[in-house]
Amino acid sequence: MPILVDIVTRDRRLVSDEVDMVTLPGSAGQMGILRGHAPLLSTLEIGEIILHKGNDVRYIAIGGGVVEVRPDKVIVLAESAEQAEEIDEARAAAALQRARESLAENPPRERKPIIEAALQRSTLRLKVARRRSSRPQRPGPSFEEE
Ligand code: ATP
Repeated sequence: MPILVDIVTRDRRLVSDEVDMVTLPGSAGQMGILRGHAPLLSTLEIGEIILHKGNDVRYIAIGGGVVEVRPDKVIVLAESAEQAEEIDEARAAAALQRARESLAENPPRERKPIIEAALQRSTLRLKVARRRSSRPQRPGPSFEEE
């Protein structure tokens, strides 16, 4: 039995799909959610959401957020979210470079967590973008049967 997954940011709804399983970046690591899961409200880290449906797997990078899990539905409110196919690798590489340079310049203590979060987001975006290239060639992020 599938579970409905909604992933939204302030600007847009990225995903509203039925999947077999969704994996979320919880504070204690990746957590897999199937239909029938106990209700849960939790924060999410900077990390990847993985949607499994049949033989298809989709990867989404999020910049943290919150999730509400209900037995038949998962609702993610993300700070930022991009599907693997949407990630601009050059932009992420530039952001990573900027973050590394800022850290190397011994920034004030209060700036460090901000720079480290930027470093984590850009590293994650590069990782998730590479997942796209390791997948079989598909025209887009749809779940259509092959
Ligand atoms: P940058 O310094 O490149 O703006 P950032 O980590 O500061 O990166 P965010 O504040 O997390 O960016 O996101 C701002 C907006 O830009 C969000 O809508 C996010 O989805 C989008 N975004 C950020 N980086 C990328 C990227 N590499 N590819 C596609 N969209 C991106």
